[in-house]
Amino acid sequence: MSDRDADLKARLMAQAEAAIDQVLACRPAAESAELADIEQVALVAGQQVAQAVTGALVTESAAAVPAWPVCPACGQRMKAKGKRRRRVVTESGEVELRRAYYYCGSCHQGLFPPG
Ligand SMILES: [Zn+2]
Repeated sequence: MSDRDADLKARLMAQAEAAIDQVLACRPAAESAELADIEQVALVAGQQVAQAVTGALVTESAAAVPAWPVCPACGQRMKAKGKRRRRVVTESGEVELRRAYYYCGSCHQGLFPPG
């Protein structure tokens, strides 16, 4: 396993562990648990893990984008404007990402590269 994978695994394991801790803290009492309550706790835990995985993989993918995209309208090299926060709605809910942001001096348009 590469260092990058080991680092990603450690972060995801920590987030999964936090979700499991929350299950233990919030689960209905065993002697009176209704199936619907159990299901609800399981769904929330699964959603938290799914959000952590989505956020981590999207961030990793964004970091792999070339540093200097060209403007889709005029083809000029765009200027890097640092990282900006962007909220994205995914299958597993809304996640906030810090994404590289670029600006075209000719077209006066900004761009978050895909990925
Ligand atoms: Zn342009």
